[in-house]
This record gives sequence, structure tokens and C-alpha cells, in this order.
Amino acid sequence: MTVLASGSKGNSTVISSSRTRVLVDAGLSCREILKRMALAGEDPATLDAILITHEHIDHVSGLAVLARRLNIPVYFTEPTHRAWVRMVTPRTTMTYAKWLDHIQQEKEARAAAVAQGTSGVENDTNPDAPRPAFEDVGSTAADTTQAPISLEAACDPAPATKSNPAHLPAVEYFHSGTSFSIGDLDITPFTIPHDAVDPCGFVFSAEGIRMAVATDLGYMPPNVKAALKRIDALLLESNHDLEMLRDGPYPWSVKQRVLSRVGHLSNHATAEFLSNDYDGGASYIVLGHLSESNNAPELARIAAEQALANHPKLLGNRILLAMQSTPLEPITI
Ligand SMILES: [Zn+2]
Ligand SMILES: [Zn+2]
Repeated sequence: MTVLASGSKGNSTVISSSRTRVLVDAGLSCREILKRMALAGEDPATLDAILITHEHIDHVSGLAVLARRLNIPVYFTEPTHRAWVRMVTPRTTMTYAKWLDHIQQEKEARAAAVAQGTSGVENDTNPDAPRPAFEDVGSTAADTTQAPISLEAACDPAPATKSNPAHLPAVEYFHSGTSFSIGDLDITPFTIPHDAVDPCGFVFSAEGIRMAVATDLGYMPPNVKAALKRIDALLLESNHDLEMLRDGPYPWSVKQRVLSRVGHLSNHATAEFLSNDYDGGASYIVLGHLSESNNAPELARIAAEQALANHPKLLGNRILLAMQSTPLEPITI
């Protein structure tokens, strides 16, 4: 696990087995992701896929350009993909008749996917399936060879794809709660409570090792507690200190949103999980998505360490802090 960035200005983490390497979220510019991968000793050309937890900008801002540059598939849930397409596509006015036509095309595409028996992971790369209206059919064959990645040239979008900002080399769909595989990585997405259309976290397992990414959650529901058992390296949200948030600069409406059950996990809530529900199995707990306005790294660390100190047998767990501005050293198990 290599956390390239974590926080409200951008999130991206590399997860790899010895044979497969994926990027969870692409919330920095393409250029910055490539730069940080180089800093951390990760080779972008070996990435097999990008997985997206949810459509908030701090998780997707570099997505399209990076996916096209590396020519790799992007895994979303279907609602998250749709939300992302809506977000990046410039608004056009559509007549009602055109809109009905568009909805009908989408319905037919879904029916065709079901008829082909694609369950669990679905994809829209089947050339026989009706194309969603937004796809740029003309540019799917771009960039099939992997040239060495140079930072200067790497992130300029190819002219053919400039017209369609939602174009991706390939899109694969997964459903939270249904496991799927990429290479030798087994991946189980789980639903998280957050104010996005279909947000999720992930458990990755390969070669007997399990890693998990669980950030952007308003509280710890039972399904997340259950998913985070027997994890060896855990990236876990510790977003804000309650007092700093209350007294901090955010307008009241934003404070309410962060504190809500679809907002972010406080240091206190994270500590409560570690004291009461955590099984103590992880060699590394990486505290992530720390707020720069409403948290201090030492407060997050102290809260988590105190929680673990209540369980002397858990003192072997190492706590690391993921940062916004620089990548963490790769965690190898
Ligand atoms: Zn976020
Ligand atoms: Zn979010």
C-alpha cells in the first residue's frame, strides 16, 4: 500500500500484490499522481486499473486524463460512473423528446448487459452493446502502446478525446457487496455512509494478505465494522477533531454536513471503533483524510494511540499518518 495523497484536496492510493497493481481514486492531477508515484518508487506503466470510491472531486480530479494516458480501465459502480459523467460533461440543453430517447437507449443498454449474463462485474466495452450517448466511439483505439511515461508530455489529453471529457479507455462496473478480481487481487467493495450517490470502501486480498481503504464515512455502520476484520494494512479515516471543527472557520452548514451521518469520521469516532470493534490484526493502521482546517496530525495520532493503549495486546499495531502534500513510504507486508 502506497498512499500518494490523503485529504480533502486529493486522495490516491496504490495497492499491489506481486503481480497486480491498482490505483484507488485519482484525486490529484494526472501530472501530480505520476510525480508522486515516481517519488514513491512506483511505476505508473505497471498499473492495471483505477478504482473509484465515489464521485467527489477530491477522488476523481485527475481520473480521465490519467486513465487515457495509461490506457487502463476504470472500475466504478454504475451510479458513481453516471454521476461522474454528469459532473464532467458540459451542460447541454436537451429537448424532452431527445431526453426520452436517451433514457430509452440507456434502458436498452442495461437490458442487453443483463441478457448477456454479466453479473457482479459488468462492463460497457462490449462492441455489440448499445453505446451510451456520451461515449466517444471514435477514439477508443488511441494509445495502445505503452511508451515510457515522461512527466512533461504525459498528461496532455490527446486531441481526439478533448471533445469528450468523459471518455475513458474502458469502464467496468462492480456492485458493493459483490467481490470481483483484477489479476490475482480479490476485491470486495463495501457500502459506506457518505453524501455521494453510491460510495464504497474496498478490501483487497492476495497471497494471504488483506488491505483495506475506508475513508469518507459519516459513521461506522455494522457492515463496515464487519468488512474491516483480519486486515493487515488499513487506511482509515480520522477526519476532524470535534472541538476544532466546532470552533473552526467553516460555516455552520458545512460543519453540520461534516458532522452528519453522511459526512466524515472524527478522531473520536475512529478511536471508538479502535477501542470497541477493531480486532487488532493490522500491522499498520494509516490514519487518512485528515482535515487541514479542523484537525492536527498529533491529535489524530494521540486519539488512535490512546484507543489502542486500552488494549495492551494491540500495541504492536503501527500507526502512520497519511498526508495531503507528500506520499507515504510504501507499506510492504
Ligand atoms: Zn474525500
Ligand atoms: Zn467524499
